[in-house]
Amino acid sequence: MPIQEFEPFTDIPESELLQYIADLTREPNVVVVRQFQQPEESQSGEALWTVIAGRIITEAEAAGTTSSGGRQTGSGTADVTPSPPPTTGTASTSSVVPESWMPSCSMDRVICHWTAGEYKASDHDRDSYHILIEDNGRLVPGTHTIKDNVSTADNKYAAHTKGTNTRSIGVSVCCMSGAKSNPFNAGSYPMTKRQWDMMIDVVCDLCRRYNITPQPHTVLGHGEVEKNIGNPQDGKWDPMKLPWEPDLTFAEVGQLLRESVRAKL
Ligand SMILES: [Zn+2]
Repeated sequence: MPIQEFEPFTDIPESELLQYIADLTREPNVVVVRQFQQPEESQSGEALWTVIAGRIITEAEAAGTTSSGGRQTGSGTADVTPSPPPTTGTASTSSVVPESWMPSCSMDRVICHWTAGEYKASDHDRDSYHILIEDNGRLVPGTHTIKDNVSTADNKYAAHTKGTNTRSIGVSVCCMSGAKSNPFNAGSYPMTKRQWDMMIDVVCDLCRRYNITPQPHTVLGHGEVEKNIGNPQDGKWDPMKLPWEPDLTFAEVGQLLRESVRAKL
């Protein structure tokens, strides 16, 4: 039976999502969609769905997986029920980053950031990072490919970390405009747990794709680069403070980042 992968898309009304699925499959019995986010409610109260990296699987396949996925058969319409978003600490082989965003090349590390902007990715953000994570967990590709950072000699690369961009993948959560480190104030766009969890999933995908073993110098926050790699970063501290756990130190957040990635690989 067919298994179809499709590109992420966002803010699609439920009726259109069901039609999309029906058109995509032309198989009334192929009905399960996984890895999509809980719906956001639009101003009109309509549920708007974000599909991160959906996969349509057969009923038989669904029966062999955890039972939380939506399922329905029969009259040609699909009844889609959300699977819970991935949670930290749960082993998973699922993938959130589209394959086309991870070209074949050799990369050494993943550096995590926040943009110090608002919840949506700006053009400047897209120029600076390879993958961005907006407030609803939606992934946005940067303008530079990961492969652009194999070499920085041509000046065409995502410049996310001073002196540390060669073979470095830059992932960033869109948030923390106006944040202050001491005393800690998360500003008007605090990083959300949803964004953090999605970043863990993204880093997992990148580690798998590029054979990166999470260690302090291979999976780290921008705020750890100076200490772990030795390249000065002018006091950068992203994304080393969690607004929902403000008592954790920078070092503890870095450790949590790597432990969370290891737990899901
Ligand atoms: Zn940064």
